[in-house]
Amino acid sequence: MLVSVGMDHRGVALRSAILHFCSARGFLVIDRGTADGSAPVDYPLIAHPVARDVQFGRARFGILACGSGLGMAVAANRLPGVRAALVLSREMAKIFRRHNHGNVLCLGARWQEPEEVAPLLQYFFDEEEDGGLRHRRRVALLDGGCWPYGKGSAMEGKSALATEDPEIFAAIGGERRRQEEYVELIASENFVSPSILEAAGSILTNKYAEGYPGQRYYGGCEFVDRVESLARDRAKKLFGAEHANVQPHSGSQANMAVYAAVLRPGDRILTMSLSHGGHLTHGYAKNLSGMLYEVTHYGTDPESQRLDYAAMARIAEKVRPKLVTVGASAYPRQIDFQKVAELAHAVGALAMADMAHVAGLVAAGLHPSPVPFCDLVTATTHKTLRGPRGGLILCRKEFAKAIDGAVFPGIQGGPLMHIIAAKAVCFREATGQKFRDYQRLVLENAAVMAKTLQNLGFSLVAGGTDNHLFLIDLRKNLPTMDGKMAQILLERAHITVNKNTIPGETRSPVDTSGVRIGTPAITSRGMGPAEAQQIGQWIAEVLMANGSEETIATVRENVLALCSRFPLPYPG
Ligand code: PLP
Repeated sequence: MLVSVGMDHRGVALRSAILHFCSARGFLVIDRGTADGSAPVDYPLIAHPVARDVQFGRARFGILACGSGLGMAVAANRLPGVRAALVLSREMAKIFRRHNHGNVLCLGARWQEPEEVAPLLQYFFDEEEDGGLRHRRRVALLDGGCWPYGKGSAMEGKSALATEDPEIFAAIGGERRRQEEYVELIASENFVSPSILEAAGSILTNKYAEGYPGQRYYGGCEFVDRVESLARDRAKKLFGAEHANVQPHSGSQANMAVYAAVLRPGDRILTMSLSHGGHLTHGYAKNLSGMLYEVTHYGTDPESQRLDYAAMARIAEKVRPKLVTVGASAYPRQIDFQKVAELAHAVGALAMADMAHVAGLVAAGLHPSPVPFCDLVTATTHKTLRGPRGGLILCRKEFAKAIDGAVFPGIQGGPLMHIIAAKAVCFREATGQKFRDYQRLVLENAAVMAKTLQNLGFSLVAGGTDNHLFLIDLRKNLPTMDGKMAQILLERAHITVNKNTIPGETRSPVDTSGVRIGTPAITSRGMGPAEAQQIGQWIAEVLMANGSEETIATVRENVLALCSRFPLPYPG
């Protein structure tokens, strides 16, 4: 078991007794100092690292000591998830663990002799947490507060979930803290508005509504019909499309529905390869799309690492596919949807654009739209578009019937009406000037962060970015580090990214040679170019530091300070 231990100059008197107990028990110790009793140390500077070790699961428990034990307890308790208390007797140690599920035990050298330490710790560590609902509920209330119900809500101060299912409640509270305390750079993630969160968490989840507005298989659909009609109309208006289907549960479902609508098993499709930035649903061998259809992949040009439309046209000419798809999960440059539609049509193929990643930029007019050119367009609603997790299909009227039939009853049953309501809110939000300003800032932040890393010697796929994401190619300046290791190191500094394969990949998809970085989420928190530049520098520091604990810890402290300046937009 891992135990994090720390004391200030006054608590040093108990240090040997604490360490001796840990070693006798076989505990692995994270030693947060200080070992020097002669130089004064500010107790929060010791308490916070220990509390954070516990908060983020690096250590199961913490032990802190100072003169009174009080300052350490107060400081440690500032961190959500930490339950710290001064313990003066064996009985207190027992109760603290049993009832309060204490995880940081504090000692005071003013009141406690070194020989009293072991029995207190023993009582604490030998005790078990009371798993009864009463105590779990109280502990969950401590940790999670009243989220998601905040000020002004009828449920303010109450949470049914905390009462009924404290474990899930606490896990949600933990994830909320994680979102608050990490810089989120996963290019496909974002923070929805409180309105979208409210719609997604609404009572619409109770309603079955198989079919489409006006043609349902269940009664009682007048309100959900209104919701879905609004969502469809808003999507059509936002993207200038003749028809919209807002029911796909996800981007993958949207893609599969398009295939089901226009292809037969065994048909030929031409799609972007996964390692060059495509998605699993673009014909990857282990995805149903790769099993059902005869797939030919195109990639990016080996030199420029950009799409080579002339090469695509040549492959299309040779393969004569029924469908050409374009769109990517990890492509940092603009896509010329018009060119792809033209080269597909030239060989009698249909053109499908998967604009999952860039849908928000398209909605804001900052990326060329595929809608006027491609026969079928799919999107996710949760990436740059900043809506709830879900899928969307846009098409011309001539494909409407086939698409709707392919979604339901083709591959889905009842639509998720709460999510469709949240999509409707998202489409409305995406029409305003505020949204356009947001997307402009997403682009600026990505450009600034990419440039910062390039200036510090990092190599980027395709030489940089035109959109919301970029990819670091680690092979050039950090050949021994793979994407997996980079992701782990950055996560320890509270910077969340994802490892990613890159063109010409030589490592496995589990290890990868690249890291994908995107700016939609930090921009939603209100961060701008100054923060983007700073984060770029921190990324470089962590990756270049050879795993130095000191560098990681310093960056983590800075990231936490940054995050506290840009709170999430949710109450509670
Ligand atoms: N298409 C592209 C280009 C994507 O990047 C993704 C998701 O990352 C999807 C489709 C699938 O979306 P979902 O995860 O909602 O199924």
